Amino acid sequence: MSVSQYVATSKSRELCIKAFEDYISWCKNCKFCREAIRSAEPFGYTRGICPFKDYTSGYTTIVGASGKMLIARGLLYETIKPTPAMAEDVYLCTTCGACKQWCGALVDTVGVIEALRADLVKAGVAPLNIHREFAERIKKYYNPYAEPPEKRFTWVPPELKLPKKADVVYFVGCTSALRLPEIAESTVKLLDAAKVNFTIMPEEICCGSVMFRTGMREIGEDMAKRAIQMIEDTGASTVVFSCPGCYKTFVKDYQAILGEPLDYELKHISQYLLEIDELQFTKRVNARVTYHDPCHLGRHLEIFEPPREFIGQIPGLQLVEMERTKMGAFCCGAGGGVRGAFPGVSLDIAKERVREASATGGTMLASACPFCKINFRDAINELDATMQMYDVVELALKSVKGG
Ligand code: SF4
Ligand code: SF4
Repeated sequence: MSVSQYVATSKSRELCIKAFEDYISWCKNCKFCREAIRSAEPFGYTRGICPFKDYTSGYTTIVGASGKMLIARGLLYETIKPTPAMAEDVYLCTTCGACKQWCGALVDTVGVIEALRADLVKAGVAPLNIHREFAERIKKYYNPYAEPPEKRFTWVPPELKLPKKADVVYFVGCTSALRLPEIAESTVKLLDAAKVNFTIMPEEICCGSVMFRTGMREIGEDMAKRAIQMIEDTGASTVVFSCPGCYKTFVKDYQAILGEPLDYELKHISQYLLEIDELQFTKRVNARVTYHDPCHLGRHLEIFEPPREFIGQIPGLQLVEMERTKMGAFCCGAGGGVRGAFPGVSLDIAKERVREASATGGTMLASACPFCKINFRDAINELDATMQMYDVVELALKSVKGG
C-alpha cells in the first residue's frame, strides 16, 4: 500500500472504546488486576504488579485496570460523562501491560486504556497540559523535547560516512538522539564494527509514540506517514531500533494504520546484533549486572531472551536476575506520558525498581530502552545509589575492540 493511501484507510483512528466493546464486556470487575497485589500467584513474587499501587491515593480508577474498565463502560453506554478529573486518573498509567498479563478474562486492558484516552481527547477533557505541550513541540520541532531539528544528529562521529541508501536503517529515536547520545553513538559504533551496511536518516522525526500513547492519534499518524516515506526512500530491508517505544509503535500502531505489515523487517538492536553474530567480544567486563525488561520490548513484544543473550556474550559479565522479571517485570515508571505529567510518581516507581536491582548484589543495571535509562539514572541519583546504569549497547561496546 502506498503511503498516500494510508490515511484514508487507517484503522488506527477507529480504535475508540466502541471498537473494544467485547473486551469491555469481558471484564467482570473481578479486580484481580488490582487486588492481587500481595499474592504470589501467578508470577511467584509477593509485590505489586501495577506500579501505581504504592505511590498514589490507590483509588480503584488509578490502580490496575478494573476502574478504568468501569469508566470505559460508563462512557460507552453513556451512564457517565467525561470529566477532566476522570482524564487525570486515566493518564495515571504507564501502559506497562502488567494488568493485561494478570487478567484471566484476557481483556486487552492497554488497548482499552489507550482508546479511552483517545475518546477523552475527542470529548475535549484530555490530554493533560504537558501532553498538549508535547503535541505542539512535535508539530513544530518534530521531537517532544523542543530541540531544533538540526540538533538531532550532532552526536554522529565525523568520521562516519553514511550512505543515502542502505540495507539497514538505524531509527535513532528522540530520546537517544537528543538526551542520551551515548546510546546512539554506541549503536553506530557496534553496527560499524559488525560491518553492517547501514545508515541513519538525517531528516528523522519523532515516531509519534507519545501521541499514540496519550490519545492524540492524528498527530501520531502524521508522524507515521512521514517516517514510513523516509524509510521507503532508503530502500532498506531492515530497520533497527534503540527504543522499544519506537519499535512497538512501528510494529503495532503503524501496522494498524496500514492494515498490513510493513515491507521491511523490524528489530531491536540487541536482537539484530545477536542474530548477525558478527561482533567480536574481546575485552572482559568483570562485573555483576542485572537486566531490566522494558515493558514495550518485554511484555508488549515478548522479547525477553535476545537482550539477555546479547549481554551474555560479554566475557566476565555475570547476569543476576531481579525478583520480578520478564512477563512479571516491574515497570520503570516513565512510559505512557507519565514521566512528563507526573514526575514525582514516575521517579518513586523507578526508585522501587532500582532498590530491587540493588538487592541482587549487582553493581550494574542494564536496560534496552533509553526511556528506562533516563528514569533509572534519575532514581539512582536521587537514592545516591552506587549502581551504574547502562544500555545494553554501551555494555557491549566496552567489550568490542575499539570501543
Ligand atoms: S481487567 Fe481483567 S483482571 Fe481486571 S477487573 Fe477486569 S476481568 Fe478482572
Ligand atoms: S497498564 Fe500498568 S500502569 Fe496501567 S493500569 Fe495496568 S498495571 Fe497499572
